[in-house]
Amino acid sequence: MHKRHLSILCLLALSSAAVGADEPTVNGDRIQQHITALSKFGANPEGGVSRVAFSDADIAGRKYAVGLMQEAGLTLRTDAGGNIIGRREGSNAKLPPILIGSHIDSVPSGGNYDGDVGVLGAIEVAQTLKERGVRLKHPLEVVIFADEEGGTVGSFAMIGRLQPAALDLMTQSGKTIGEGIRAIGGDPEHLADAARKPGDLKAYVELHIEQGGILEETDVDIGVVEGIVGIRWWDVTIEGVPNHAGTTPMNHRRDALLSAAEFVLAVNRVATSMPGRQVATVGRLRAEPGAPNVIPGKVVLSLEIRDLDAAKMTAVYDAVRAEADKIAQARQTPFTFAQLKVSSEPAPTDQRLQRIIAKAAGALKLTSKVMPSGAGHDAQEIAHIAPTGMIFVPSVGGVSHSPKEFTSQQDMANGANVLLQTVLAIDRGELR
Ligand SMILES: [Zn+2]
Repeated sequence: MHKRHLSILCLLALSSAAVGADEPTVNGDRIQQHITALSKFGANPEGGVSRVAFSDADIAGRKYAVGLMQEAGLTLRTDAGGNIIGRREGSNAKLPPILIGSHIDSVPSGGNYDGDVGVLGAIEVAQTLKERGVRLKHPLEVVIFADEEGGTVGSFAMIGRLQPAALDLMTQSGKTIGEGIRAIGGDPEHLADAARKPGDLKAYVELHIEQGGILEETDVDIGVVEGIVGIRWWDVTIEGVPNHAGTTPMNHRRDALLSAAEFVLAVNRVATSMPGRQVATVGRLRAEPGAPNVIPGKVVLSLEIRDLDAAKMTAVYDAVRAEADKIAQARQTPFTFAQLKVSSEPAPTDQRLQRIIAKAAGALKLTSKVMPSGAGHDAQEIAHIAPTGMIFVPSVGGVSHSPKEFTSQQDMANGANVLLQTVLAIDRGELR
């Protein structure tokens, strides 16, 4: 980490000519101050935050961020989905807005950077443009999406896909999604009002912490996200025969947990034996009846597969199914697979925006690398209706969804500067 930061400092010192002293740059101290101030809302004893969507802490944190948006000269509204949108008019009223932002809700016992860096970085971009008197041609909109961690609820509403049935689902706050949206100023009865159509946005660009350790390990400043991986989940049920663990000889057993053990190993073998970056995980396993003196008659376990390529996800699944068939036959324990609705398909980012982001990093004398996002983001939803790009900054130790989450002030400022340069490039017409 030290080596990298030293090299960045050297590069930054050299780079002032490349970026131009008259070019606007963000104020890193101010981003850090805002991160520290936002961390007070829902602060937990471990040093992170428990600011789950729709909680009192979330509502108070949003109020704080709204104050920053007002200071940055943005005109505020909350859409029907509960998304806060701050707008700065451009010089050409006919042009669609450039949207930037992220979320500030957290997982229970989360950290101070996931989502927050993207929102505060976007507000910093607006503040910098205001202070420097830069008038864009396009309107600029800064968004704080509602309830990202509960399943990208706000961005789902923005693309017109949040169905009324979802409003009854309970959230970590103790409110349903519908009650939560109402509590933060949205209008769950008129969700369609929040929907934007293809063409309504010039582009969406989200700055976010990597939440993995690749940038830090490879000593790279900026991740240019090539896409958000798809996630498919299954409940897998294995049927055996429960019986007395003392009186049933070893060769007369149909032990569902034994089959499950072989299956867990097979999933890992399949995922690691194929070329590529696919991942597959068994993360939950329940054996029934769950007594020390009974042979397990049934196991229900989870299977999760992630990749940027939908065809690759299918290939991994097919190979896992073939392994399951073999185990089922050998041990006389049938497997059934039920795919869950929470599954999401891969969302590639816009290749032109990838180039613009990489070029912006280069102009700032920052190193960058193209990489997938293994975590879900609001960007995966907005990608359905607008050219979408994502900028990653390093997460120390690759730790996220934890109070130990950390990103340095320099890296946050680097990311916000890349976001600023990306917005300027889009406004100049480089997204063609
Ligand atoms: Zn996030």
